[in-house]
Amino acid sequence: MASSSSSSKTYTTLAVSDNMSRKVCTRAAGGGTPHLSTMIKQYFPETPRESAQKSTIAFAFDIDGVFVKGKDPLPGGADTLRLLQRLKIPYIFLTNGGGLTEKDHAAKVSSRLNVDIDPDQFVQSHSPFHDLVPLYRNRRILVIGGEGDQIRHVAEAYGFNDVITSSDLFVEWRTLHPFPEVSAPHHSAHGRPTPDLRTKEIAAILVWSSSRDWCLDLQVMHDLLLSSGGVFGKKSVKAGDVTLPNNGYLQDNQPKLYFSNPDFEWVTDYHQPRFAQGAIRECLEGLWRYSTKGEAKLEYTSIGKPSEATFMYGEKILKRFHEKMSRIQAMEGGVSGGGGGATAIRTVYMIGDNPDSDIVGANKYKSQMGATWKSVLVETGVYQAGTKPNHQPTYHARGIADAVRLVLEKERYNYLEGQNIMEARVYLKVYRDQEGCDYKAGHANNSDSDSSKKGRILKDRTNTDESIEAVRPPRFGKLMLPAALRQKTAHPGN
Ligand SMILES: [Mg+2]
Repeated sequence: MASSSSSSKTYTTLAVSDNMSRKVCTRAAGGGTPHLSTMIKQYFPETPRESAQKSTIAFAFDIDGVFVKGKDPLPGGADTLRLLQRLKIPYIFLTNGGGLTEKDHAAKVSSRLNVDIDPDQFVQSHSPFHDLVPLYRNRRILVIGGEGDQIRHVAEAYGFNDVITSSDLFVEWRTLHPFPEVSAPHHSAHGRPTPDLRTKEIAAILVWSSSRDWCLDLQVMHDLLLSSGGVFGKKSVKAGDVTLPNNGYLQDNQPKLYFSNPDFEWVTDYHQPRFAQGAIRECLEGLWRYSTKGEAKLEYTSIGKPSEATFMYGEKILKRFHEKMSRIQAMEGGVSGGGGGATAIRTVYMIGDNPDSDIVGANKYKSQMGATWKSVLVETGVYQAGTKPNHQPTYHARGIADAVRLVLEKERYNYLEGQNIMEARVYLKVYRDQEGCDYKAGHANNSDSDSSKKGRILKDRTNTDESIEAVRPPRFGKLMLPAALRQKTAHPGN
């Protein structure tokens, strides 16, 4: 620490807590800079575990364009997850991807990133379909999307017991596909003969994953929405009846329609974004508008980001996972009875690359558990740096590592030592004492108990970027702890 000026008195005072302030308050009249580890301990003293656990932050991560691009992992993702695991900060994946069970998808991402991921912290675009199982468990559903029998198997794993595909319909009616030349071998290979296809009602259409044969799938969905009672091949006579609601459309027990991913485009290995699952909904709406002459509304339910339903489901999974991990940690810590419950989650940070999905969804979501949702937009996927996003995030960051680092710093989280000081405020004030000397004083604490001892306050920089910077641990930045506080501040002015 530099010597003070002889012409004007300067002081530097810093403290971290009431106890620490007595230990480390110094008059900056000379002496060397303390060793780094000593300085870190000064700013982040041992925090009692009870107070450190009053509340926590949490993360919800998108995957494509955040952790992976195509099949390749993006830089910093794996280390970031390991850091959060070490800090015991809860997080989930909230992706509009899908096509697998949560267990299989978690294993796939685990393998790509080389980080353990629990299926219980994994939410896909179609995960909320779990909540439809009680309604359709033994009723017939048509699933759209995926390759081969993949989606049928996922739906059956969810608990749906009567699942058909458009390939099943194709092998029953080989003439229903207007242009079968390209895809007929695929449907023939995977279509399953189903004896009662011509008579049994299809209760729901679940667009589960990206369609591989838009021509057939759009035709099949359109046919069913104009069917009588959801029986395939049987046309409703109510359509166009102006005496009925919606001009008679969808008034004949047609299947309910569900979409699971509204994303219009996504990033792949190609250098421009590609149509995503949501694009087929736009096609169906266009076809519906044309065939009904614009006289009928297409009714459907859409889940997946940015829908409220998906954020609500994700929050439920996050809370459940946090409680599970808290129980495990309590048991590992030897707490009798498995622990006394999880701490409250006060802020959830959604980190994603798509302003129209991740960002707007988090911005609009009203938490059911009293948390605040904030958003961080990264530049490694759909969003292009330097352009104006359709929806402004709470924060911008280059990539996943920067995004999490930024949040931890904003939350005043000591990610170097793993201590949670999120309950602390970071005080930083400029004082003028009775001798006319100005100095800065800062500390992280729950009370501003030292302020009355320092003279008149010239500036209050508490909980500003300047104060946070002053107590910032050095892992991801230059060694500047605590540069602002070591600075000579003789008569800085008002
Ligand atoms: Mg994405």
